[in-house]
Amino acid sequence: MNIHEYQAKQLFKAFGISAPQGEIVSTADDAVQATHSIPGDAWVVKAQVHAGGRGKVGGVKLAKNTDEVRQYASDMLGKRLVTKQTGVDGLPINSVLIEKTYPIKREFYLSILVDRATERVMFVSSVAGGMDIEEVAEQTPEKIVTLLVDPAAGLQSYQCRKVAFDLSLQGAQIRALEKIMQGMYRLLIEKDASQIEINPLVETDDGELLALDAKINFDDNAVALHPDILAFRDQSQEDEKENKAQEFDLNYITLDGSIGCMVNGAGLAMATMDLVKLKGGAPANFLDVGGGTTPEKVCEAFKLILSDKSVKAVLVNIFGGIVQCDVIAQGILTAVDEVHVQVPVIVRLEGTNVEKGKALLNNSDFGVVAADDLASAAEQAVALANKEGKAA
Ligand code: ADP
Ligand code: MG
Repeated sequence: MNIHEYQAKQLFKAFGISAPQGEIVSTADDAVQATHSIPGDAWVVKAQVHAGGRGKVGGVKLAKNTDEVRQYASDMLGKRLVTKQTGVDGLPINSVLIEKTYPIKREFYLSILVDRATERVMFVSSVAGGMDIEEVAEQTPEKIVTLLVDPAAGLQSYQCRKVAFDLSLQGAQIRALEKIMQGMYRLLIEKDASQIEINPLVETDDGELLALDAKINFDDNAVALHPDILAFRDQSQEDEKENKAQEFDLNYITLDGSIGCMVNGAGLAMATMDLVKLKGGAPANFLDVGGGTTPEKVCEAFKLILSDKSVKAVLVNIFGGIVQCDVIAQGILTAVDEVHVQVPVIVRLEGTNVEKGKALLNNSDFGVVAADDLASAAEQAVALANKEGKAA
């Protein structure tokens, strides 16, 4: 689960990590009002969306007076922000963070995450802050330093000092960095975060260290244990279809292709997507309807797939093990009827009562194609999707 920058900064303050003074608002009037309690004569207006890369696309603006604060806030609020991390539709800006500005001397990168390879908590730091860290990793990997924390010993002072030296910090800054790192470590462990990223962590002109940006991801499997974190959830920033899928216990992820895939079993779903790719198509989603799927679930899954307007064909690949193929076929036909499916549907069934299932599909009036095997099903789906795509 993701949270907003302003929420992450609230947690930072609770864990002793210094962050700029700021206020969250959702109207331009309130934005101006907020400046009265934030010292200085310039402010930063920051769009609150669950994505980074805002600065490059006008989602972070420096306002030199209150008129500009009003202007930037009203420009942003109610719009959608498209950044490198959001996908083409972007995310809605429902609130903006008004912050004190700081004269920046240097910008660093500092994050903490769970490293799967070493099964350790890992800090990643870099003198190249404020930039796209993936780019830094690719072009100048020597600028990235990692540090592993022993789970029994915890984060040690000498480890923090080493990071401080790597960033050429001095005097009181070394202790300040240790406080930030200890805060990040405690926050990660206590709240079951999977990653905390500060990009940039800045050194101001008077030597202070501050988290200017804040991003936290939480482990979905643990978030139920933390009602305070769960309260931060903002569904407007999440994929509507993915939330709907959760309601019906379907594993669904939106992708950007044109072939809707309905499969039972995550492994089979992955294999189906691979095959679609191999045949020259692109899946519109990952969808696992589960092992013991029911006709009702199949129906909901269809609705979900078809609510995506880029879907030009649906490929159903179901193994009738726990549920028999004829039951599935009936479910598919009911769904196609109920949802008024307009695009071609190609079905590959295998398992118990497969012949009965295929007969049901072939004898129906809905033009559902029952394929003989997976390879030809994928091939047909790609061909039909291309044809539909051109016709549209
Ligand atoms: P994003 O990563 O989404 O682009 P950031 O919060 O990192 O957003 O902001 C982008 C840049 O804007 C930062 O690298 C920093 O240079 C500047 N910035 C952000 N907040 C402030 C602030 N409070 N004072 C001064 N500069 C800021
Ligand atoms: Mg940033």
